[in-house]
Amino acid sequence: MGALKRYFGYDSFRPGQQGIVESLLAGRDVLGVMPTGAGKSVCYQVPAALLPGVTIVISPLISLMRDQVDALNDLGLPAAFVNTTQTPDEQSMVFAQAAAGEVKLLYVAPERLETGRFRDFASRTPIALVAVDEAHCVSQWGQDFRSSYLGIGDFIASLPSRPPVGAFTATATERVRRDIVGMLGLRDPSVTVTGFDRPNLYFDVVKLETKYKAAWVARYVADHADESGIVYCATRKETEALAATLNQMGHPAVAYHGGMAPDVRERAQRDFITDRMPVVVATNAFGMGIDKSNVRFVIHHNMPESIEAYYQEAGRAGRDGEPSRCTLLWNESDIVTRRRLLDNDYDNERLTPEEQEIVRQSKRRLLDGMVGYCRTTECLHRYMTRYFGQELTPAGAANGTAGAAESTCGACSNCESTFETIDVTRVAQAISRCVHDVNQRVGSGKIVKILRGSKAQDLAWLNPEQMPTFGMLKDVNEARIRDVLSQMATDGYLAIAEGRLPIVMFGRRAVETAQPDFHYEIKRVERKAGGTGGSG
Ligand code: ADP
Repeated sequence: MGALKRYFGYDSFRPGQQGIVESLLAGRDVLGVMPTGAGKSVCYQVPAALLPGVTIVISPLISLMRDQVDALNDLGLPAAFVNTTQTPDEQSMVFAQAAAGEVKLLYVAPERLETGRFRDFASRTPIALVAVDEAHCVSQWGQDFRSSYLGIGDFIASLPSRPPVGAFTATATERVRRDIVGMLGLRDPSVTVTGFDRPNLYFDVVKLETKYKAAWVARYVADHADESGIVYCATRKETEALAATLNQMGHPAVAYHGGMAPDVRERAQRDFITDRMPVVVATNAFGMGIDKSNVRFVIHHNMPESIEAYYQEAGRAGRDGEPSRCTLLWNESDIVTRRRLLDNDYDNERLTPEEQEIVRQSKRRLLDGMVGYCRTTECLHRYMTRYFGQELTPAGAANGTAGAAESTCGACSNCESTFETIDVTRVAQAISRCVHDVNQRVGSGKIVKILRGSKAQDLAWLNPEQMPTFGMLKDVNEARIRDVLSQMATDGYLAIAEGRLPIVMFGRRAVETAQPDFHYEIKRVERKAGGTGGSG
């Protein structure tokens, strides 16, 4: 604690930091999993200040090294870096200073570790600690794999007296975490996952048909006219259309996407950051490196591809700690679109077909996590933090009240809603039989008409009156049948074949609907007083 105040001027540790610092000081390896901005650096900088010897910090971001090193020197912690931007002479000088004990933290890019000079230096100099930043780069299962990270484990093993190793990442998946431990050769590491909950954010999930989404956004923006917010859309076209709609209705908004001319894009960004423009309607190209603290709402007009993506984008709300709202608008067709994008994603042409299938499978799993967030009835804060591997304790839960299962966090739409599950087994079975009756040849509109016993002319060629399912769901309203049909498609009982006209086919789980124990439900959401509408 003394060092924290003395060098960094902070009065207290943030959650997780103290435990990590103490483990490293005690000589134990650690794996620290924290989101960006939670304060990973302090976790190795404090031990570096206190332990005898030099701490080696391995970081992939050469561009940031100089800033970090300058900041540490300003704080009175002697630091230096070696990387490719320096001449051999400059590098020699840094090594000499470090060997003489004049440097406490030495920042290096992973490529350096393999050079004879660095190995030579490390074998002769007492190393206090090795800190590996962005440790997920070691895993081929992560988004940011770097082959240069593969040498780190070897380097650590080659050190004459093995120092404690701290590995840090913001990555959630179990697979990547296992790789980090295995490939860096961490020994019985203490694993700390923390900082993912953002209690000042209100999480809101609203199921809404696509045609109502723009109106929902417009109403929200109108009701919060004095607030700054981001609306994320899936495509460039959507951002422009929605921004135009908002402007027509008298709500100033600017579009932002990767296809715009750089100067137009920069102006949009500047206008938003300086509060000249309250709302930006953007693709996920917006936000990288944007630090605006007073964003009061982030609305997702479409479902993102993963919880990781959602957390990062929604997390741009409320950086100042003030109450802010993160709303996700979704419907079943978002899921279908996402699945289709994923199956047609061949941008990885370097990979073999088998490897592509592995990538696709892991992307499918990520998408399942996102769909789970839309469908769950549990506390959304709890769902989100559990996804990242952090269990909310009662004290750590949003507003400190989400401890017991029956209590509410007061900061998510699920805790402020009641849910009714509706048994739709009969409807699902009828839909499935009808798809059989029409021989998987028509779209969902015609299926609904046949089930409702419609006499519409465009059905005549099918001879629907002859079908066993004709009129079978006369008593069920059209919207309900459509809802069940969509959910069956996303659950794999049906599949929508995309062509000029989408056709409803059987999905991989189709046979289950004919089994005697088949049971199917949909969820209806009822907001308690004060909620912002929406129904499922
Ligand atoms: P990360 O590496 O996890 O993205 P950083 O280490 O860059 O995060 O820290 C993010 C910010 O939080 C920095 O501005 C840092 O100064 C601040 N910070 C870290 N720890 C504390 C603390 N205990 N008290 C106050 N501020 C902190």
